This record gives sequence, C-alpha cells and structure tokens, in this order.
Amino acid sequence: MRTLITGGAGFIGSHLTDLLVARGDEVVVLDDLSTGCVDNLATSIDSLQFVEGSVLDADLVDSLVARADRVFHLAAAVGVHTILGEPLRSLRTNLHGTENVLEASLTHDAEVLIASTSEIYGKNTADALSEDADRILGSPLTARWTYAAAKGLDESFAHAYAREHGLRVAIARPFNTVGPRQTGRYGMVVPNLVRQAIAGAPLTVHGDGTQTRCFGYVGEVAPALVALLEEPRAHGCAVNLGGAREVSILELAGIIRDRTESESEVTLVPYSEAYGEGYEDMQRRVPNNQLAAELIGYEPRLPLERIVDAVVDGVRGRLERAGSRA
Ligand code: UDP
Repeated sequence: MRTLITGGAGFIGSHLTDLLVARGDEVVVLDDLSTGCVDNLATSIDSLQFVEGSVLDADLVDSLVARADRVFHLAAAVGVHTILGEPLRSLRTNLHGTENVLEASLTHDAEVLIASTSEIYGKNTADALSEDADRILGSPLTARWTYAAAKGLDESFAHAYAREHGLRVAIARPFNTVGPRQTGRYGMVVPNLVRQAIAGAPLTVHGDGTQTRCFGYVGEVAPALVALLEEPRAHGCAVNLGGAREVSILELAGIIRDRTESESEVTLVPYSEAYGEGYEDMQRRVPNNQLAAELIGYEPRLPLERIVDAVVDGVRGRLERAGSRA
C-alpha cells in the first residue's frame, strides 16, 4: 500500500507514520516542519520518504497524491498559540491545504482521511457530543474560533466531494489527543504541565480549573484513523475519537503532580494573562464514542494515569537526549 501522510512529522502524524511503516506500507511524509520535527520520525526515517514542503503547494500535493493509494491528511496549523499568533497563515493552511488534498485525491482516485477536531463543537457543553450535535461558536472575528470555522468548512468540503464526486473520504474528530512527542510549546495542557512538574515550576492552570476535557491516547487514536479509512461504512462520515474519562484541568494538574512526584504548586492563571483579552475557553468537552465503537470497535482503554505516565516518559526522554547533545 502506498500511503501519503501530510503532517507526518507532527505529533499524531508521526505515531501514524510509525504504525504504517511497521505494517509494511510504502510511506511518504509531507511536512513543512512548522510545528512538527524530523526527530519525531527517528524510528522510521530509514524506511520512508520525507518531503519537506507545504500542503499549500498544490502542484507538490498533486504530484505526491499521484503516487499514493491513500492519503492521511493531518497537516494543519494547530495549537491555540499558533492560531492566535498567526491567524492568517493558520486559516490558509487549514482551508486551502485541505482543499488541495481533496482535489488531488479525487484526480488520482486515492482514498483520503481528513483529520478534523472536537473544536468544531465549540461551546456546546452537552453531556456527550454526538457527531450531529449543534455547533456553538463565538464570533468569526475572535481568533480562537477561526480554527473551528476552518476545520468545519474542511468537513463540509470533504462531505461535498464524497456526495457529488464519490470521493472515498473519512473524517475523524479527535478530542484532546495526548501522548509522547506532543509539545507544550503551542499551548497543549498535558505536555505543558508535565514539563512544569518535572522542572519544579508552578503548574499553570487557566481560569478556575473547573473546565473539563476527555483526553484520548495517541496509541489508541492513531490505529483508529487507519481503521476508519479502511472501513467503507465510515466513508462520507465524521467520527468522534475521544477519551473515556472527563477530568477537570485542576484535577489533571493533581494527577500530573502525583505521577511525577513533583512538589510544584498549582497556580491559577487568568485567561487574559494566558491568551490575551477576549479569549473564550470551552468549559466542557465530552465525546460520545458510540459511532467509532460501532464502525471500528474503538474503545478508549488506557487509564488517564497511564497516559500521563507515557507523556512523562516522553518528556524525560527528550530532556535526556537534549542534555546529552549539549
Ligand atoms: N490549559 C491550562 N494550562 C496550560 C495550558 C492549557 O490550564 O498550561 C487549559 C486551557 O485553557 C484549556 C485546557 O487546558 O482549558 C485544554 O487546553 P489545550 O490547549 O490543551 O486544548 P483545547 O483548549 O484545545 O481543548
């Protein structure tokens, strides 16, 4: 199987790359290394072709998709700090990049999986968000919502390509996926707090810490992406992939302190200080994973403590490698 992975040097993309290389796929990774890094591909780099470039380069995308049977499209501007700091580049990448991938997949008759996000549900705090749940987004002029707006349009594009042209496309909506190799640099809470705990620095919990998330484990989400594309019943659908346990960020900080045996205190940081004035957070985001269970037998199993342990091992490993290089 010839597989193109856009964003394959990123956090989720590199785990997917390792998985598919191990399965014997001929893998080509396209990544512009904006938030990803070649280090993430250390395990597989000798068994794949790496192309440094952007999904905004339509000719490049077309030439790579021409040589592929299937495409996993994970390249995107990600992380709250990226979206707030570079709204224009983020919008272009997340809209036009996806359109380029879909158009090339249609031209060359490749199957394609589009990575969307639970962000598209916005401020809907329902008990368990099903795929057809309403979206509650703030103003399109608020930078944070441009990510959800772009990803939502990506889904509409994908769905229209499926309906009008018969493109074999599946859409995944991961919920706060975490694991080794995720960097805290662009805002993600788990690697950020783990790094702080290991350094003995205060754990920065935003707001009052009562906001909740359900963290999914990359070791379970990456194989689910493959299973979704390989399941014809998933084509034309959007499917949630989330964690099992709802946890407040304050509670998460406590778990991270315990697992790292850190003495760090927890500090509450106002949103305005963390992200600037006018930032809106989601108070709650809980997935209904029923559709993924029915389609591909997806069931998040790894307990949150073990997920945190995996992140801790990853962060410690990186620090050791950086130390031995210095
Ligand atoms: N968060 C936090 N401390 C940090 C980074 C993030 O308390 O150092 C909070 C953030 O405000 C949000 C939650 O953790 O309420 C999850 O943030 P993340 O950026 O990881 O994901 P998302 O907001 O996209 O769900």
